[in-house]
Amino acid sequence: MGATKPVMGLYDKPMWDSIERQHMELQRCTQSGHFRYPPAPACPHCLSLDHEWRAISGRGEILSWVIYHRRYFDDYPPPYNVVAVRLAEGPIIMTNLVGPIPAGSWIGAQVELCYELHAGRMINRVRLREPVTGPTP
Ligand SMILES: [Zn+2]
Repeated sequence: MGATKPVMGLYDKPMWDSIERQHMELQRCTQSGHFRYPPAPACPHCLSLDHEWRAISGRGEILSWVIYHRRYFDDYPPPYNVVAVRLAEGPIIMTNLVGPIPAGSWIGAQVELCYELHAGRMINRVRLREPVTGPTP
């Protein structure tokens, strides 16, 4: 077992740098306008190699969630959640919901990006956009 590390492929560094600045950016195709995640050499919609880095709104919606009760990484002691979030710009990211949690199903909950230091580096997470009353994980 060990701690998690950021994925740092050929196309990832600008994204991690933007997360470090606490204003996440993703690649946006300059031909079709589609945002893409994870960073990649070509647009999956039109196959163009052209792109620019654009700041995203930070808003999204939870598509699914799970709570892990088993330890997979030293820096994620259980229980912890993982949520799939569709960003307003289209891509789906996997992250953690922090702060208050929705009562009942989390699917459809409106969230926004937030940033936290984790294991010595800045990472992006999400929190609910609407204040709710509920237990804090
Ligand atoms: Zn495209």
